[in-house]
Formats: sequence, C-alpha cells, structure tokens
Amino acid sequence: MTQTYHTVGIGAGPANLSLAAMYGVLAPHEIALFESRDQPGWHDGMLHSGVRMQTGWVKDLVSLYDPTHPLSFLNYLVTTGRVYALLGAGFDTIPRIEYQQYLGWAAAQLPNIVYGTRIDRVDFDGELVSRSGDVAVARSRHLVLGTGTVPFLPHFLAALDPRHVFVADELHHRLSTVADEPDAPWIVMGSGQTSAECVAALLARGVRDIRWIGRRSWFAPLEDSPSANDLYRPAYQEAFLNLSRDVRERLVSGQILTSDGISPGTLRGIYQHNYEERLRTGRFPVTIMPSRTVTAARQLDGEIELECLTAGSGEERHRAVHLVVAAGRQQAPLPFDEELAALVDIDERGQPVIESDYSIRWKHADQHKIFVLNRGRYVQGLVDSNLSILPVRSAMVLNSIAGRVVCPFRDEFVSTRWA
Ligand SMILES: Cc1cc2nc3c(=O)[nH]c(=O)nc-3n(C[C@H](O)[C@H](O)[C@H](O)COP(=O)(O)OP(=O)(O)OC[C@H]3O[C@@H](n4cnc5c(N)ncnc54)[C@H](O)[C@@H]3O)c2cc1C
Repeated sequence: MTQTYHTVGIGAGPANLSLAAMYGVLAPHEIALFESRDQPGWHDGMLHSGVRMQTGWVKDLVSLYDPTHPLSFLNYLVTTGRVYALLGAGFDTIPRIEYQQYLGWAAAQLPNIVYGTRIDRVDFDGELVSRSGDVAVARSRHLVLGTGTVPFLPHFLAALDPRHVFVADELHHRLSTVADEPDAPWIVMGSGQTSAECVAALLARGVRDIRWIGRRSWFAPLEDSPSANDLYRPAYQEAFLNLSRDVRERLVSGQILTSDGISPGTLRGIYQHNYEERLRTGRFPVTIMPSRTVTAARQLDGEIELECLTAGSGEERHRAVHLVVAAGRQQAPLPFDEELAALVDIDERGQPVIESDYSIRWKHADQHKIFVLNRGRYVQGLVDSNLSILPVRSAMVLNSIAGRVVCPFRDEFVSTRWA
C-alpha cells in the first residue's frame, strides 16, 4: 500500500536533510525523503584529493538554528572520535569529503529516507502523489523539492564524442579510465571553482598541457570579506525580500563572486605548481586564458577544436584531445505532471512564482504547500544557492507548514542599514 506522510521531500541533499533533521518540531507529523542515488552521497564526482569546503563547518545542517541538535557537525566529530585529529590538522576549511561523510552520518540517523527511488512525476488528486515510474511511492499533504542542480552542457558540445568531452562531475571517474598520456592536451572550460578544481586535479595527475579557458575577464577569487558575509545572514535576506524583482536580479549579478568565485587556496595551488614546473621543465603546464567565450566546437581526427571569441572581439581556435566542461549548473527539472503544472502560477520568465517562504504559488496552496529549495536566488538571494544558512531556510519552511512560528530564529547585532 502507498504510504502517506505529512510531507514528502524529493532529493536527500543537504537542503532536504536539514529540513528532515528539524522536522521533529512538527511531531507526530513525519517527513519522508526519496532519493534517486542508491546511497548517501554529495557531489561525489567532484571529490578530488585536496578539495575543500567554501563554507565553515559551523554552517552544518542544524547548528545555526539549534547548536544542541544531535545532528550537529560538532557532535559528528566527537561521536566518531575524530575531533582532536581534525582540530590538530589545522584546516582553514574542512575537506569536502568530510562534509560528505558528515551528511552520510546524519542521514543514517534520520527515519524515512528511501534511496534508489527517483521521483519522475508528481500529481494531485486531493493529495500530492509522488511516482517513481508508474508506481505511486508516497502520498502527502505537502511537498518539498530539494532536487538541486545538474551540470550545464552547452548545446554545441552535446554532439561531440563523449569519451573525450565530458562535464566536470565525471572527471574523477574518467581519470581512472583515460590513458596515462601526460603530454596529451586538455582544455578545461569554465571560470568558477569547479573549473579550478579540475585544473588542479589534472595537474595532480601529471598532465602537462592544459588550457584553462574562461569567460570571466580574470579567474576571480571568492569574495569572503566581512561585508560579503553580511549578505549571507537572515537580516539581509529580510531586506532583500522587500525589493522588486528587477532590483534583486541586478544585486545578485553584482554579488556573484561572493558565491561563485574561486577559493584563493585553490588558485594559489595552481599558480605555485605552474611556477615550479616552469623552473623544473622550462614550460608552464597550465596556460591561463580568461576573457574567452567559447562559441562553437567540432570533432576533428582524434581532437576537439573550440572556437572562441576574445574580449577584444578577436577569434581564436584551440585544440585538445580531452575537454572538461565546467560551464555552470542548472536547476533539475520540476517533476510535475501536466495537470499539476497547469495549476502552478508562472512568472514572465516561465518559472513558478516563488513566495518568500519558499513555497510556490498554485491553486491549492492554502491547504497543500509545495516548497522549492535552491531555486530562488532571485527571490531569496544568493544565500538560497548555498549552505550558509540552511537551518534558517528549514525553519522558514517549517513555520510556513505549521502556519505559526514553531522555529523562531534571531539575527541581531546588525550594523549595516540596507536600503
Ligand atoms: C562541487 C560543489 C561544491 C559545493 N561546495 C559548496 C560549499 O562548500 N559551500 C556552499 O555553501 N555551497 C557549495 N555548493 C553549492 C550548494 O550548496 C550545493 O550544490 C548543495 O549540495 C545544494 O544542496 P541541495 O540539497 O539543494 O542539492 P543537491 O546537493 O544537488 O541534492 C539534490 C539531491 O536530489 C536528488 N534528486 C534530484 N532529482 C531527483 C528526483 N527526481 N528524485 C529523487 N531524487 C532526486 C539528487 O540525486 C541529489 O542527491 C557546492 C556545489 C558544488 C557543485
């Protein structure tokens, strides 16, 4: 028989894990999460050796709302016996594999997480029905989409040989299968942290001919100053929500490097490696090529050729045997069936209208909330695309489901007056 829950969450990434961890405030109501992976994981294809989090470990699933919660990162460190070792190692920010293991530890303690079940379709028959293939796996009053993002592959790359052209998420796996030819040329395409990590992973593998091609005018670092961090707190979010959509869009594009810039440590590693190899071998393994927009690509005999437009409107062509694409990510598609989709209010950009409580506007929203997490950077700000205040977002969703404040949170000591 199809099980009925108060809320169903689609996806068991950090967004929904945080919500599930805090769902106890609505007891005896329950949430169930359905996850397409067979087991816990987190950007598993991007766990190259040496990669670090871009956010501090206090920004875990629960602590900013409730530091006494049993699923805090500190409790994970202590109860798994690694707290002294981690502190002693003196990381500025923790390895990403540590955060992945923390998520797995937390997920193992939460009830009702069903792995290996992709939700392909949700329909509405008085309740929300989540289906995997033709099977109705759960019914619920409310729904939370925490389906995250998927890598973006520009259309002109889609027809190229997938053995030689692949997205960054596949690099880790590919490095174990491609022939060990250090002089084979590679291109890494992209300007953000992911592209930098791919360059670093190729260097670690001993690759000696990498062109790093990016659209930004420089490979810009993550902006992580106190004033940048001001943007990632509830007080700013409250001010941001009061602005018009046009203003929010303009602000988000001006703030992008607080979220999508490259960690200075990753940049330093690449530049230092490059310099040292130049001393050792007489040439730089990485040619750093900002200000280039890739406009087309073709498959040649055993090579890929990219056409680029430079900042000065010049044209260039670059060839490589392998191309790693780190051209950003896009939102996973919403799995609504046609009838449900027709009940959803759509904005002028063709996207569901997202309210300030992360719910979407739809016909039965007064009784049945549908929340979308990590889809509203132009509504809630860039904070919605990352892990900075996950527990606050969970608190807002829980307050909305309850129809009253069951998770109060505070952000005082605010010295900035936002206009
Ligand atoms: C490599 C990488 C590193 C990052 N590092 C940081 C960082 O250090 N700090 C930071 O603040 N942000 C970081 N981010 C940004 C962001 O915080 C993460 O992407 C974060 O994982 C988003 O969480 P999420 O739960 O919304 O999505 P995801 O983590 O993507 O989780 C979504 C889950 O939903 C599942 N799913 C999708 N569709 C379905 C379906 N139809 N049915 C069932 N399951 C489904 C997926 O398998 C996945 O497990 C990083 C992003 C990337 C790509």
